Formats: sequence, C-alpha cells, structure tokens
Amino acid sequence: MAVRDSRISGFFRLTPVERLRKVAELVGLTEQEVATLQMTGSMGIDVADKLVENVISTLEMPLSVAPNFRVNGKDYLVPMAIEEPSVVAACSNAARIAREGGGFRAYATEPLMYGQVQVIGVPDPNVARVEILSRKSEILELANTASQTLKSRGAGARDLQVREVPGLEGQVVVHLVVDVMDAMGANVINTMCERVAPLIEEVTGGRVNLRILGNLTPLRTAYAWARFRKELIGGEEVVNGVVEAWRFAQMDIFRAATHNKGIMNGIDAVLVATLNDWRAAEANAHAYAAIGGYRSLTRYSVDSNGNLIGSIEVPLAVGVVGGTTGAVEKARIARKILGASDARELACILASVGLAQNFAALRALADEGIQRGHMSLHARNVAVTAGASPPEVDAVAKRLVEEGRISVSRAREILQEMRGGGSGNNK
Ligand code: NAD
Repeated sequence: MAVRDSRISGFFRLTPVERLRKVAELVGLTEQEVATLQMTGSMGIDVADKLVENVISTLEMPLSVAPNFRVNGKDYLVPMAIEEPSVVAACSNAARIAREGGGFRAYATEPLMYGQVQVIGVPDPNVARVEILSRKSEILELANTASQTLKSRGAGARDLQVREVPGLEGQVVVHLVVDVMDAMGANVINTMCERVAPLIEEVTGGRVNLRILGNLTPLRTAYAWARFRKELIGGEEVVNGVVEAWRFAQMDIFRAATHNKGIMNGIDAVLVATLNDWRAAEANAHAYAAIGGYRSLTRYSVDSNGNLIGSIEVPLAVGVVGGTTGAVEKARIARKILGASDARELACILASVGLAQNFAALRALADEGIQRGHMSLHARNVAVTAGASPPEVDAVAKRLVEEGRISVSRAREILQEMRGGGSGNNK
C-alpha cells in the first residue's frame, strides 16, 4: 500500500525506532514486518543512524568470496557483495582459467584526481588563464592546507590546469590535480576546491560557482591483462567467438552498455563489500568509456599459439582508507580478507576482477549461451521467492530448470506437491 500523504514534519529528528513505527503506521506494516526490519545484523542501528539520514533499518546482502585470483604473482581471496546470481561463480572460474595462463598482470597509475572550480562572469578568459597559472604555486599551497596528512607525505595538490569549456562563454574551469594517496579522495578534494575559491575569484575577477571533485578520473586508471589458454576454454571456436563478441561491443553502443555492465558486475561487488563509492565508480567507468564514442572497456586478441588475450583499461577512484571504509566492521573484515595494502593494489585487483567477469560472460555467450548457467542460479532465487525453505531450494530449482519454466507460480505449485499438496509457505 502506498502512503496517501508523504509529508512528515521532523522525520529526521525521530530515533530509528520512532521512524520505523511512523512508517509502519503510515503504510500498514504488520508486526512481523516491523520485527524483520528491527533485525539489523552486525551493523547496529546506532551505527547505521550515524552514517546516513532517516534510517529505519539495515539491509543485508550475500557476502561471498571469489577464490583463485592471482594478480602480479600474488594470490587473493576476493570478497564480493552482490545479490545477482552467477557473478561470483563466473568470476572465480575465470580467475582459475587465467591462473593457468600465469594469472593477471596489472598496473595502476598514481592516484591523481581532478577537483573542478567553475568561475563565471570572467571579464576575459584568456587574461584569467595567464593570471591563474602565474599564481599556481600560491594556489597549490593554499589547497594543501586542507590536508596535513597528504602534505606531510608529499602528496596533495600537485598541479593545476585552466580549461575553457566550449559553449560556456565568460567562464573558465580550474582543475586542481590532486594526489589523494590511499583514499577515494572526494572530501579532501572538495575541501581544497572550496579553500582556493576566494583566491581564484580575486585573481580572475569572476565569481566561483561550483567547487567539487570530478568523478571522471582519466589520470587514475588501472590496466590488466591475462592469457586464457584455448584448450581450457573450448578451443579456437570459442576464442574467435569471444573476439567477435568484443568487436560487436566496440561497434555497437547497445551491446557495449551490456558488455560494460558485466565488467561492473564484478567491480561493483568488490566495491560494495569494501564499502567504496560504487556510484562514483559507475559514473567514472561509463564516462571514460564514452570518451571519443562509447565503447568497451576491455579488448581481446589472439596470441601466436591461438590463446585468447584479454585486457582492460578502467578508471578507478577507490580507497583503502577514509569515507565509510573504516566505519563498518564487515567492510573492514572484507578488506582484511582481500589483503590489498594500498589503493593502487586495490585498483589492480579490481581491474583484474572486471576483466575476469567480462571474459566469463563473453565465453558463456560465445559457447553455451548465458542462460544455461545463469538460469539454474536464477531458479534458486525464484524458489526462495516462492517460499522454499533452505533444504527445499535445490530440489525446487532443479525441477524448474528441467521443466524449462522458471516462474514463481510454478515454484509454488512444485512446493505444494513436495509438501504433499499442503497450502505451502508462500508468505
Ligand atoms: P575522507 O574524507 O575520509 O578522507 C580521507 C582521510 O584519510 C583524510 O582525513 C586523510 O588525511 C586520511 N588518510 C590517512 N592515511 C591516508 C593515506 N594513506 N592516504 C590518503 N588519506 C589518508 O575520505 P575521502 O576519500 O576524501 O572521501 C570519500 C567519501 O566521500 C566516500 O564516502 C564518498 O562516498 C564520499 N563522497 C563522494 C562524492 C562523489 O562525488 N563521488 C562526493 C562527496 C562525498
């Protein structure tokens, strides 16, 4: 039931328990539903209430581990938090195959990000450019007062650029180039941009409008490649099928969107597990893919022995410190399982995961088709949705797949049969 009037005065001032009661009353939640929302797992409601606003509960999702990853000669167990079936299985399997070819080789650039300061009402952008560049050291020094931690380690604001954006007359955009070390960097860059704004106004004679980090990070990019031996993946036909599937994504935006979505299936799951900003990662990856026309973030070729070579180039603004990465105990434990000691190592693993995921999807598409493997996992979700208890799930899913009819209504019928024609547990 939708609420009739969503205006609630002072909702944010209530405690989580009071908010939940209010919502329950307004939409008619049952006592059982309220009790379910009151179960918050390892993240106490008081922690959740400190992280974001208007909290009423927490939401769990499966936390899995993908084994088999070897990146730059080092082994990793990769934590993945995701609700979509088959991602973890595909990723683990692809990592096992890549391992046979020597594992992933990866490289992440220095963690350089942009902060953007938009200056409007600039009397003469050409004059402003020269004046800003002439005061570069002063502006960078001021920016670096925002973080003693970065400054003391030789990181922080390193450079600045002045851009004119076509179509924006009377404006310049100052890009601060900031080395954020092992953080994602959003807050520190935003602070720097705000700090330099008055000086930039003084220098340009314009008015600063926006002061915010840029989520497109072409300077903060990770690269990885791996060899997938042809005899392990179904031979020449599958190798060629994968290359053709990739070429399709290079040429067709409709295919490229799905292709890149698959890459992010893997990357996002690790980002969620480690509580990194996956919305930023999504925006970043797709904006990067769109530079010069939207295309695949991976590439495929065939080596002289007929093996498949896959590679990826993906911008990754990810951190092992800062933000909420340290505020939630399970995210901290996930980081411990992964064992990446700095942000660049994390970026190397993420690029490898993205490549693994993409290879697995293309191989399945080029070989047996995606549905066979995917649907049997999907059938388990359907069985759970139909009310199957954990011991019943596999049997119901097997019947659904065998019959080729994977629907909740059929799963309910099967459950009824299995339970001797009873009414079923379909709540
Ligand atoms: P943060 O604000 O926690 O800053 C990082 C902190 O870690 C700093 O205080 C820094 O001094 C300290 N630090 C200690 N050791 C460090 C090391 N080795 N390297 C780097 N820093 C070190 O975190 P952040 O990364 O600046 O911001 C990330 C958060 O900002 C995320 O939660 C994100 O969701 C959020 N955010 C994102 C956007 C966006 O547009 N993507 C915008 C605003 C906020």
